[in-house]
Amino acid sequence: MDLLDIDIPFDCRFKCWFCGEDSHQTIETKLSKPPSNYLVNMPICDECKAYQCHKEVNSLVKLRELIKDKIVIRSAKELSIGANWTELELQESDLNGSAFNGFKKSGWPMYLIAKDRVNFSGGDLCVDGIAIENISNDEKFEFDGLTFSSFISMLDYLSKSFSLNKGFLRKVLFVYGNNRTIER
Ligand SMILES: [Zn+2]
Repeated sequence: MDLLDIDIPFDCRFKCWFCGEDSHQTIETKLSKPPSNYLVNMPICDECKAYQCHKEVNSLVKLRELIKDKIVIRSAKELSIGANWTELELQESDLNGSAFNGFKKSGWPMYLIAKDRVNFSGGDLCVDGIAIENISNDEKFEFDGLTFSSFISMLDYLSKSFSLNKGFLRKVLFVYGNNRTIER
């Protein structure tokens, strides 16, 4: 199988294509659409690679979906900070004690990092300036500034962040979900 040389914008040479974190390695995967018999080498960070999703799927779009879902699950704690507080509320909260002081200081930046990783989009794939695969995901689910690659992934986030029963939540969203976006 041949390897396609994907254009990587200069400022993204060392950026994980999946989450935007620093990357010093690449991962080989197949394209999802024709010419799907080609392999591409995508920059990936240590954390995204450690999720081991590449062992489960072998196409780029599927791989990105799985990685994004993993980020949501693994960052549940950080994401729930933004779900339950605003930055100002957190600063002005009367949480005291050394453990809470650390939380007040680093909680918001941790939330922003997790949020950026969830929302990051690596852009379309081009070879010599020609787009070869439009990898934008039509099936996007959004809630409170976060974009999820699947309904299940959004459910995971909501049930963890707001301590809600997943089965119940699924029913509510089917009834009240408005055009894939639900208002807080
Ligand atoms: Zn990454």
